Amino acid sequence: MRFTKMATMAMGLFMALSVTAACGSSTKTVDKKGAAGADSAKGALVGVTMPTKSSERWIHDGQNVKASLEKLGYKVDLQYAENDIPTQVNQIENQITRGAKLLIVASIDGTSLTTQLQEAADKHIPVIAYDRLLTKSPNVDYYATFDNYKVGVLQATSLLVGLGLKKEDGSDGTAKGPFNIEVFAGSPDDNNATFFYNGAMATLKPYIDKGTLVVKSKETDFKTVAILRWDPATAQKRMEDLITKAYGGGTKVQGVLSPYDGLSIGILSALKSAGYGTSGQPYPVVTGQDAELASVKSIMKGEQYSTIYKDTRQLAAVTVKMADTVLKGGKPEVNNTKDYNNGDKVVPSMLLQPVTVYKTNVQKTLIDTGYYTAQQLQ
Ligand code: BGC
Repeated sequence: MRFTKMATMAMGLFMALSVTAACGSSTKTVDKKGAAGADSAKGALVGVTMPTKSSERWIHDGQNVKASLEKLGYKVDLQYAENDIPTQVNQIENQITRGAKLLIVASIDGTSLTTQLQEAADKHIPVIAYDRLLTKSPNVDYYATFDNYKVGVLQATSLLVGLGLKKEDGSDGTAKGPFNIEVFAGSPDDNNATFFYNGAMATLKPYIDKGTLVVKSKETDFKTVAILRWDPATAQKRMEDLITKAYGGGTKVQGVLSPYDGLSIGILSALKSAGYGTSGQPYPVVTGQDAELASVKSIMKGEQYSTIYKDTRQLAAVTVKMADTVLKGGKPEVNNTKDYNNGDKVVPSMLLQPVTVYKTNVQKTLIDTGYYTAQQLQ
């Protein structure tokens, strides 16, 4: 019975595809995955999966993507997996079973969804990687993100600015050093973490080579400094250990390269417990990323030094535009077809521009742009 039903469905699908192929005009882009054009896109279900609600940015990303898709008439299944890979696997499988016509995925571990991506490909469901690249799979159609290498460059540059080695306008500062710094990286299973780290280390390397910056712990390689799942508590613990190991006898740490606001909060908390954050012993220059509310407030209080603003409204908008175009059988606009090799193919990408936030430009970058209200930052 079940088999007969499936066979009938398969037959129906075959006929529908044949009709579509027969009617396809030569000027219209016919997607290789068989997205059948504007009419069949109408009201289609889009599966959206986000890694976690424990960080504000993903909450905004999810809300923005869902609202924009719904505005265009799509149905949306939005899921969060609380950084648990099997949960995300189930959510995506469920979306495929429910007949999603397109998937937008912000993964936890970029390599762990290959089976689900194959299932999607088998059912002609296009996949867009959202902010984090899906790796080791040919079944990723597009990628929407920020210029992740540049994020790292900006993070390291802001560290140099905080130490007085550079000025905000990019020219050389007057400080001479040497300064003691420590280095953190993001989750090793997130492709972005390597891009951030590479951009940052390329910027810091000349200063480390000259001895202007000194990493007292000597811990600089990616594997050693990476923080699994971007977990603030793990970063706090590592900072505590670094202070104990490398900063005895009055030696102070003067800068910490942190790739994400959540980690910066953990790092600052370890520093506070060790006596930093007073007028006699100020906090080191601590960087960040995402312009999360708590960290922007911390910047305004003079605790965290900088963060990187990535407008999640823009990312949602370009992703939804991509999705809509693909669902209607078209080819979306991309601006990078060389940098994001996922181990299987170079994924056509749309990269947005990140912006550094200092205490001095919070108004211009975050309030004037409507990202936050002045009231939220009080
Ligand atoms: C994102 C960052 C974020 C980090 C932790 C990365 O993939 O690009 O914006 O800070 O994940 O959530």
